[in-house]
Amino acid sequence: MAKEITVSGVRPTGKQHLGNYFGAVVNFVKMQEMYDSYFFVADYHSLTTHPNPADLHSNVKQIVIEYLASGVDPNKCALYLQSDVPQIPELYLIFNMFAYLGELERSATFKEKVRSQPDNVNAGLLTYPVLMGVDIIIHKAHKVPVGKDQQQHLEMTRDFVKRFNNLYKVEYFPEPQAFNFDDTLVSIPSLDGEGKMSKSKGEQTCLYLADEPEVLRKKIMRATTADTPTEPNSPKPTAVQNLFDLMKLVSTPETIKTFDDSFNNCTIRYGDLKKQLAEDMVNYLAPIREKIKELNSNDKLLSEILGDGGAKARASAAQTLKDAREIIGIKSF
Ligand code: AMP
Repeated sequence: MAKEITVSGVRPTGKQHLGNYFGAVVNFVKMQEMYDSYFFVADYHSLTTHPNPADLHSNVKQIVIEYLASGVDPNKCALYLQSDVPQIPELYLIFNMFAYLGELERSATFKEKVRSQPDNVNAGLLTYPVLMGVDIIIHKAHKVPVGKDQQQHLEMTRDFVKRFNNLYKVEYFPEPQAFNFDDTLVSIPSLDGEGKMSKSKGEQTCLYLADEPEVLRKKIMRATTADTPTEPNSPKPTAVQNLFDLMKLVSTPETIKTFDDSFNNCTIRYGDLKKQLAEDMVNYLAPIREKIKELNSNDKLLSEILGDGGAKARASAAQTLKDAREIIGIKSF
């Protein structure tokens, strides 16, 4: 039986941190085993904020490299740039006719952007959910991994698809369904002791996959802790719990138990805990960092990988667009 199709995109945000890795990248590695997978870099989407061309180019390269270094396998998925698939903007034009102003204006993401960047409320922002929807339906995808913030967009995609299918009395586009890896939903904490790891909290609070060992060590040694416990078996303060949570990702159960015991009997030294965490983190990330470096100086390989991925995506997209045009009545004489 043919595998179900999944599509997932990432914005070209540049360097990926540990939160991106455990929250998103590892899912791609699992998905490529289970589905006929199309993974793309959403470079057109990023134009809504008018990035400088050199930054855009290097951010696209960085994200591709880091996904590959983390185990995304171009032999198991189509890895491509959205801008390499011209059928996407064409189907986007068509689907703009199925998206209504009112619903686009009600989108939570759009409303948030109107608040946060009032000087740049461009039409691309308004129709962002249409482009997102088309990214998915261009391959007639069945399953889409979505976080909470994306659920509304997927709902909109289903509405666009239903309207198309209803108007033309066809069952051409499947209504894409959300899925997530519940058992692995994680929130990687920030090094500043509160909240989740996020670029917006500053470079020093994030551990990047590409960070050199000395940088990782420095950041971890500066991580926020709390007072040493005075009562045995006290609850862990959030900042300390965060360090234990990071340890869970990269350290052995024995190591964790040793520090857990020393916390519980009030002999813990946070300096030792951080030193151990730093070494385990350095070792954990070493193979990924090495691969990032290797890929960084191999543009030929990147071009081949993206060339192949683009060709596979275009073949699938061209078939969908041909069918859609036919259904609509755009055909040759
Ligand atoms: P962002 O670049 O912040 O939009 O993050 C891209 C994706 O990485 C998100 O959709 C999340 O799935 C994941 N992610 C980002 N930060 C974290 C975090 N601290 N913990 C877990 N997942 C995260």
